[in-house]
Amino acid sequence: MHTVAQALEIVLANAKPLVPISMRLSASSLGLRLAEDAASDVDSPPFDKAMMDGFALRAGDLQGGNAELAIIEEIPAGTMPTKVVELGQASRIMTGAPIPRGADAVVMIERCELLPDQRVRVNEPRAKAGLNILERAKEMRVGEVVVHAGATLRPQEFGVLASVGRDVVRVQPRPRVAILSTGDEIVEPSQKPGPGQIRNSNGMMLLGQVARAGGEPIFLGIARDNADDLRTKILQGLDADMVILSGGVSAGKLDLVPGVLAELGVEALFHKVAMKPGKPILFGIRPPRLVFGLPGNPVSSLVCFELFVRPALRVMMGRPPGPSWVNARLVKDHPYRTDRPTYFPSRLTLTDAGWTVDPIAWFGSPDLRGVLSANAFALLPEGDHVHRVGQALAVLRVEDPH
Ligand code: AMP
Ligand code: MG
Repeated sequence: MHTVAQALEIVLANAKPLVPISMRLSASSLGLRLAEDAASDVDSPPFDKAMMDGFALRAGDLQGGNAELAIIEEIPAGTMPTKVVELGQASRIMTGAPIPRGADAVVMIERCELLPDQRVRVNEPRAKAGLNILERAKEMRVGEVVVHAGATLRPQEFGVLASVGRDVVRVQPRPRVAILSTGDEIVEPSQKPGPGQIRNSNGMMLLGQVARAGGEPIFLGIARDNADDLRTKILQGLDADMVILSGGVSAGKLDLVPGVLAELGVEALFHKVAMKPGKPILFGIRPPRLVFGLPGNPVSSLVCFELFVRPALRVMMGRPPGPSWVNARLVKDHPYRTDRPTYFPSRLTLTDAGWTVDPIAWFGSPDLRGVLSANAFALLPEGDHVHRVGQALAVLRVEDPH
């Protein structure tokens, strides 16, 4: 039996970044990693530009702190100036418009007083060359790399890429992840379970976890506990970058998944991990495909995904694997006895005094409903311990605290 750390090491040694693809920027490219340098094809701004609504003029005219000037032109954004500003003159200008020749400063409209006969009184004791002017190419130059390979695409990268004409870029794609639930007792969520049946909660939960981790879930439904059905559906799943199976991986008579995987050429690299909830978890490869057989118990499935599957997905997307851990102080005494390191559903909170952790009321791996009030898992060591209020525990973060 492997430790969690050993098992994770095996997973990470076999997860590889996917081959980059070209993609049009859209909602589904958000959060992906750029797989190429993106250079600008324009200077920005493309001309010396006004940063304020006001008057473009010569700073030399304002040495006395104010002046009365003749208005020679009006320059809205999107038009080009036609007149040269001489001493004693000013052009009315709007934010974003090009600075006319001759002018070297813009005084904001609030410091200007319109007079009759196309004249303006300007009061600006601090006027000097460059006031309220953004110089051409101050932000970026033609040919300059503005977003580097490896950058995560956030809304601001979208904006910069759009401004340099790159609405199609090469990115690390989302891994396609086939999800297959197994079990003769499992029925679709839309069905009312008959005697001895339960609904397929893991399938829907895995779909959510895959999507949250950045992957693209492909839902394969339910396979029955017979080799033929499993074989057909797993084969279908092996078209994807990763297959996640739920259930059928432990040592029961109808736990047929390991045998069928072996038959399909999937090499199992581990089958048991010393942890709770969990333990029966299979990881195998049919390169470049990764296959996870997660335990059927819902909370075991939830935890195993976060510990092993999510890091693999992150590596496939070119990101650091995680998982992410924080040290947090217990908010109450928590006596606990366990024979394996236990990931205990907990509420993690960021307070003024740092992270705190509160183990929730929970009765074990089938209790998914209880886990609704958790947002993290506190790691409790094996043995019989009374974890004391104020004591620091390592906590697995799976989402942002709120
Ligand atoms: P197994 O690993 O197949 O032995 O399943 C362990 C436990 O998890 C059993 O109680 C199953 O009924 C339950 N289980 C298995 N698959 C699912 C599923 N897709 N959704 C909810 N519970 C499941
Ligand atoms: Mg089963």
